[in-house]
Amino acid sequence: MKRLLVAVFAVAAVCTLHAQGSAPEHRVDWNKLRPEILERYRSLVQIDSTAGNETLAVDYLKKVLEAEGIPTQTFALDPKRANLVARLKGNGSKRPLLILAHTDVVGVQREKWPVDPFGAVMKDGYVWGRGSKDDKPVLTANLVTMLMLKRLGIPLDRDVIFLAESGEEADLAGVGINYMVREHFPEIDAEFAMTEGGGARIDDGRVTRVNIGTAEKIPARVRLVATGIAGHGSVPRLDNALVHLAAAVEKVGRWETPMRLNETTRAYFEKLAAISPPERASIYRSLLESKSVGDAQKFLRERSPSEYSMLRTSVVPTILKAGVGANVIPSEAEATLDIRALPDENIEGFYAEMAKVINDPAVKIERIPQTRPASPASKLQTEMYQIMERVAQKMYPGATVLPSMSTGASDQAQLRAKGIQSYGIGPASTEADEINYPAHGDVERLAESSLYPFVQYVWDVVTQVAASK
Ligand SMILES: [Zn+2]
Repeated sequence: MKRLLVAVFAVAAVCTLHAQGSAPEHRVDWNKLRPEILERYRSLVQIDSTAGNETLAVDYLKKVLEAEGIPTQTFALDPKRANLVARLKGNGSKRPLLILAHTDVVGVQREKWPVDPFGAVMKDGYVWGRGSKDDKPVLTANLVTMLMLKRLGIPLDRDVIFLAESGEEADLAGVGINYMVREHFPEIDAEFAMTEGGGARIDDGRVTRVNIGTAEKIPARVRLVATGIAGHGSVPRLDNALVHLAAAVEKVGRWETPMRLNETTRAYFEKLAAISPPERASIYRSLLESKSVGDAQKFLRERSPSEYSMLRTSVVPTILKAGVGANVIPSEAEATLDIRALPDENIEGFYAEMAKVINDPAVKIERIPQTRPASPASKLQTEMYQIMERVAQKMYPGATVLPSMSTGASDQAQLRAKGIQSYGIGPASTEADEINYPAHGDVERLAESSLYPFVQYVWDVVTQVAASK
């Protein structure tokens, strides 16, 4: 059955080369390719690749790729959590392009789902299932792109490397990108990479915004530890660790850390200012022109916390621990601060500033080891970014294309730290879907109509970046 499908789909593609001197255009009959895209995507969603079972997805990918003559390699620190690499060779005139996606999905609470979370059920125009957004659309788009490059025999200036990686959601054991970067980096080393970390917004049935992820904040968490003398709860003490800790948490929680724009956030707010209603636009312009910045920040802090976070290294208290009994003064109390640093932050200097804000020798700042390295932002003036921008503009006429900095962290950190210019993408969804059916939410779903243009987007970018001109 699979083989028959492949034969039929192969006819759906034609490759046309324009007259000499102009760029080659690789035409795919997208209408004819739709059934195959949907079948691949649903097959992947139907694989329960919850962290710990990623090899199940790797087995599927290996079978599909090898059936069409694309060799694969698997790399596994844990046999149940393998990574898969496939490479289509170019002529070596340019450095490789890495397209990657993670195979693992977060867990499910089955009772919250109206359908089987691993059924890839099609209902109301959506495909429902865990991983339907995070990250199987990217995995599908990358897979289909590899298959089509091979079927069409497209000559490449760069190698195109496909990586399906495990353990993105929780990689405490280091089985995924950390393992690949540490032990098998030559297999995935590239000039550019493209993976999850961006997205597009649909308003009134039309894509109005396309975000290309170019940067992310760096987790730099710490514990505040206050110490004092333990004692009886009936006797107040000035060195009560709880009192000192509470004061420190209050100070850092309200601390307005310095605001700073970088290339990505500056371009982001500039583009948003151009398309926002007047009140919002003037807020963004204040940030850009450093005028009335205090008012603009106050507005964002109250109304748009994620944009407020994009302006600075943020400090958010998340855990408090202290006390063993109602009548016991504890000798130690601690708080966890989720600190997310700007990509260019001098983190030692930042901790030193924080110590000054706390201004209490009884409270020590202890670093929590991080699983992701510090990583610089990717540049906007690269061939890759400019092609990604151009393809988005062509696919969605009238949409605003803007670079974005994630306040969260992803596996792009490890790639950027190794000098790869890495960019984030994602399929389009409405604001209502982003709120009600988000990645990691109780229920996940993707509009079927968003899947096909997304695959086409990946194809267009990969062929324009990697195919021989
Ligand atoms: Zn993801």
